[in-house]
Amino acid sequence: MILHSILNGIGETPIVRLSRLFRNSPCEVLAKLEMLNPGGSVKDRPARYIIERGLADGTIQPDSHIVESSSGNLAIALAMACRIHGLRFTAVVDPKISPINLKIIRCYGGDIELVTEKDSQNGYLETRIERVKHLLREQPDAVWINQYANKRNWQSHYHGEGEEILKSLDGPVDYLVLGVSTSGTVHGISRRLREAWPDLKVVAVDAVGSVLFGTPPSPRELPGIGASRVPELLQRGEIDQAIHIDDYESAVACRELVKHEGIFAGGSSGSVIAAIQRLSSQAPRGARILTVLPDRGERYLDSVYDDEWLSRMKDRHLDRTSHLLGQIA
Ligand code: PMP
Repeated sequence: MILHSILNGIGETPIVRLSRLFRNSPCEVLAKLEMLNPGGSVKDRPARYIIERGLADGTIQPDSHIVESSSGNLAIALAMACRIHGLRFTAVVDPKISPINLKIIRCYGGDIELVTEKDSQNGYLETRIERVKHLLREQPDAVWINQYANKRNWQSHYHGEGEEILKSLDGPVDYLVLGVSTSGTVHGISRRLREAWPDLKVVAVDAVGSVLFGTPPSPRELPGIGASRVPELLQRGEIDQAIHIDDYESAVACRELVKHEGIFAGGSSGSVIAAIQRLSSQAPRGARILTVLPDRGERYLDSVYDDEWLSRMKDRHLDRTSHLLGQIA
């Protein structure tokens, strides 16, 4: 097959049965490998969909300047999609961006707008959004993707992974377990699957320290899942259960995944695996669990796969869990 462009290589990702890692589990665990998309992550789908739908309906013009506040996978995916469509792209980032992501965005030809002032919450979220709004005011050709509120974000996953899963599987799954940040992935996939499988249980995996499901903010390091504000797209009523996983638990599960399955994945893949390990102890025998592994391991060599980082996260994990045990006692 000869593709028209690299963007046509997005999607049709494989589903793998994790039979080695979950050898002793009473459940069947299936994982869709979104990490195999050409830009390296689950965010290739919304980036392509939002850009191409926008060009089709005229909300994006051929000379538009695409702007987004993202220092991670979406920025990389948008930089790739904008390359193919000949659009200028600027990622608004803060000093916490990983040096490797900064280089990747630049390799794709994306511009970087670095925000250094902190906001009232001692983070950068509000100042990044302020900078986006400033760019929109200054440059009439600028278009903001706004992934936390853009319906095309979840729609890309509905028509993408949702449709593909229904085509690939012979019958229903009992649990869909997905990492959440903007909630585009969880809403898109679950809305499509529930049309076919109304009994599906949807389990959201959030980071300890994220506020998505009403828990208090606290320090967290891994990018990908969690958020410091609740996105407009999130509909908590559509989610049956939320499981919180910390940085240490995510990294340990990533290491088990590569050890047993030979799948070298990013931090949020470890988060969903750790959540499934917790869930499968309560799930009925023979339950079928489906997850998505959102990105690859290379961008996490200085965190998840670094022993010194892991030991710092372990100390934080032990502090937190001993404090929780103290509360129970
Ligand atoms: N995992 C990774 C690695 C991601 O980059 C993202 C997107 N930030 C997610 C999970 C969560 O996806 P969503 O924003 O669709 O909730």
